Amino acid sequence: MERVRVGILGATGLVGQRLVDRLASHPWFELVALAASDRSAGAAYAEVCRWSLSSPLPAAWASVPVRPSRPADLGDCDLVFSALDPAAAREIEPAFLAAGFVVVSNSSAHRMEPDVPLVIPEVNASHLALVEKQRRRTGGGFVVTNPNCSVTGLALALAPLHATFGVKRVVVATLQALSGAGLDGPRGLEVVDNVIPFIPREEEKIETEVAKILGRVRGGTVERADVTVSAHCHRVPTLEGHLEAVSVETERPVTAGEAADALRGFQGEVADLGLPSSPAAPVLVREQPDRPQPRLDRDAGGGMSAVVGRIRACPVLTLRFEVLSHNAVRGAAGGALLNAELLLRRGLVSRRAAS
Ligand code: NAP
Repeated sequence: MERVRVGILGATGLVGQRLVDRLASHPWFELVALAASDRSAGAAYAEVCRWSLSSPLPAAWASVPVRPSRPADLGDCDLVFSALDPAAAREIEPAFLAAGFVVVSNSSAHRMEPDVPLVIPEVNASHLALVEKQRRRTGGGFVVTNPNCSVTGLALALAPLHATFGVKRVVVATLQALSGAGLDGPRGLEVVDNVIPFIPREEEKIETEVAKILGRVRGGTVERADVTVSAHCHRVPTLEGHLEAVSVETERPVTAGEAADALRGFQGEVADLGLPSSPAAPVLVREQPDRPQPRLDRDAGGGMSAVVGRIRACPVLTLRFEVLSHNAVRGAAGGALLNAELLLRRGLVSRRAAS
């Protein structure tokens, strides 16, 4: 199979670097372009990206000039990943759609627009039905988004519970890693020996995105699930992996054992598609009383599995548990790659004529 040529907008940032790393040896995608802001454009990638991964910057990209984030500069790409800062994404992604590109975005800028799919493939691949409607609006290009990094693990854990027992209300307290704030996140002085009980706009994202993801597409729009979420967000001094303490009220009674069985048995909507970034199990259940932990569990399933533990009855709602997922892998670069692989499998990406 001829590989699909892809570019990265926001290639210098934390998520962009993860995409560069994961695309270096991808069987279906060939990385051909790195783009960022005009501050970085023209400079060699290694000079401007402040590489932050423990794996080395792929040598093939070190001296390659960063391109400006304009459609005309990525004309050799069939698909672009967006790891742009949200303010930049609001301006730049629509320009790519107008130029007919397929955009797979990590940014929150367009997630909640009615015709934009907000997708976790195992949970709501069916939401790609919105693509056709969006294409009519834009004239050909379309964007598919992955959720906020705290929502991804939460929604993966809630989906099987919702399908089996009906989730009505959720209270979640997050303990979010520093890398979730990007390369210019909080300074050392602010976070060592500390917890910051506020992350701008994060609680609103969690409270709105879950109902869209768990909803159903009907009549060309998402009928949101009737699930109310209350979120408390905290930035904690871990590097990677968002841990969340969750209490859930369900429509039907459920014991901890039944919930664990539903989570363990969850395969989701794309298990048979052979997507390269699919983990063997989207949700893993740990039995140990002190798991999941960020350092021990964030790389489960190559960083693509959500890890649930401490499932027990809740004296206020129905059930409570902890869930952990890797914010920069499943919650960002890996989640976007999985979405792009799904688009390819569904025949929604085609080779663009070079411009
Ligand atoms: P980051 O480290 O701050 O990187 C931001 C990127 O955006 C950089 O490549 C930057 O390029 C580029 N950029 C900023 N302003 C621009 C402009 N005006 N024009 C073109 N490019 C511009 O952020 P990040 O953590 O990688 O996050 C990227 C996106 O993914 C954000 O929307 C974030 O909310 C979302 N996200 C992040 C995570 C995570 O765990 N970090 C998880 C899920 C979703 P320069 O280097 O040239 O400035």
